[in-house]
Amino acid sequence: MNTISNFIGGEFIKPVSGNYLDNYEPATGEVYSLVPDSDERDVELAVIAAQKAFPIWSGMPVEKRSEIMLRIADFLTLHLERFASAETIDQGKPLWLSKAMDIPRAAQNFHFFGTEILHFASEAHATNQHLNYTLRTPIGVVGCISPWNLPLYLFSWKIAPALATGNCVIAKPSELTPMTAYLLAELCQKAGMPPGVLNIIHGLGAKVGAAITKHTAIHAISFTGGTKTGADIARTAAPMFKKLSLELGGKNPNIIFDDCNLGEAALTSARAAFTNQGEICLCGSRIFVQQSIYDAFKEQFLSHVSRFTVGDPLEPGTVQGALVSKAHWEKVLSYIELAKQEGGTVLCGGNVVNPEGRCENGWFIEPTVIEGLSYDCRTNQEEIFGPVATLVPFETEEEVVAMANSTNYGLAAVVWTENLSKAHRVAANLQSGIVWINCWMVRDLRTPFGGVKHSGVGREGGFEALKFFTEPKNVCVKL
Ligand code: NDP
Repeated sequence: MNTISNFIGGEFIKPVSGNYLDNYEPATGEVYSLVPDSDERDVELAVIAAQKAFPIWSGMPVEKRSEIMLRIADFLTLHLERFASAETIDQGKPLWLSKAMDIPRAAQNFHFFGTEILHFASEAHATNQHLNYTLRTPIGVVGCISPWNLPLYLFSWKIAPALATGNCVIAKPSELTPMTAYLLAELCQKAGMPPGVLNIIHGLGAKVGAAITKHTAIHAISFTGGTKTGADIARTAAPMFKKLSLELGGKNPNIIFDDCNLGEAALTSARAAFTNQGEICLCGSRIFVQQSIYDAFKEQFLSHVSRFTVGDPLEPGTVQGALVSKAHWEKVLSYIELAKQEGGTVLCGGNVVNPEGRCENGWFIEPTVIEGLSYDCRTNQEEIFGPVATLVPFETEEEVVAMANSTNYGLAAVVWTENLSKAHRVAANLQSGIVWINCWMVRDLRTPFGGVKHSGVGREGGFEALKFFTEPKNVCVKL
């Protein structure tokens, strides 16, 4: 049994409590490794190590920091197979997806922020009498808390800008998917990262996450996860005046106008709903289709979805793997039941899958498409975060914008139309941090990323992330 360790002060160490949690392989439903059940004592050790490392790391020439980060990116690329297979076993997603998306993107995150920091400049404001310039300095010790759906992808998306700007990091991956963060620590050591710069504490959110959030020496928290957890974190951190970046849940609309390229819209909408078992915060789970093409869209969409084979994520032909945990699997199934109670008709899927062989006890659900629900029922308002999508017809642009904006969330939206003016108009009227027109999940890392309403506060990505992890100081000089 593989036993994971915390990474503190450059060393792999056991949790102070000596206790471990079971780590399950979602595809088999079996325990395959042990995760430290850490608590505030481990966080304290990490803070001491990070404080010690801070002068070294923040004082290091930026080119040197950049070199270390680029080395980590190269190592990740070199060890793609090992990391991809670890991610798939830990999370349940298909291996081809870990290879094509998760691990390359983690490498790209280190590469992107490792080079972006070389181009980070600050402002100057001059008059005849005075020169103001802005110094941007690292915050010090910062906390990064990430979820289980895109484990290394989102973990690195947070720690890379924090490290690039000279901060020392206390990071907590989800206890459901700790493996690739654990493996990453080894690469950081090899890449020459000084001890204490990156500290990874494994364990439960309620213990480790809460201890990071309330620690007085941790001055900023970057969090990605559920809206309720985000609210808990804000409740603790806001009165302590910590900097906060909160990337939270979503219930994203995907709007299909009757003047769209129907073939592309149907294919991409199927991917947008079910990639990664629907466990991506950007998935388009509420599909609004203009009445005049509703039947045609439905037919094409269902024909794509019906080809999404569910099964062993290690098999190359698998399109949809296992859901991350038994609790999450039960939650998704309960929403399918709710949809039926609310009057929905299941057009395809809706059932548990028990593949033959090693995965017979894994947590699988068929990709599920439901119609006949009102836009404002619970199924269409609450985040399910699984392989469940609904089809809702609409008549007019005004009507669909109102339906799209009707949830508490506002993370991402997709619009399908060949009419340029309509595309821009609808994008402007949607309450959403991100709008894709005639595409989905195209991610340019320079762009601001984040949500409005209950989907979060603040933006990640590009210079936004470097600004978040630095403190601006204005210096005014009399000339
Ligand atoms: P959670 O909010 O349950 O957990 C996220 C992280 O926070 C985990 O590491 C968790 O630890 C930790 N945590 C839990 N409770 C606390 C606490 N009280 N204090 C501090 N940390 C805590 O989210 P999930 O892991 O279930 O992830 C799914 C959610 O993430 C969905 O709502 C999804 O929409 C959202 N998400 C948002 C994205 C965005 O960019 N906006 C991107 C991806 C996902 P542990 O796992 O041990 O409980």
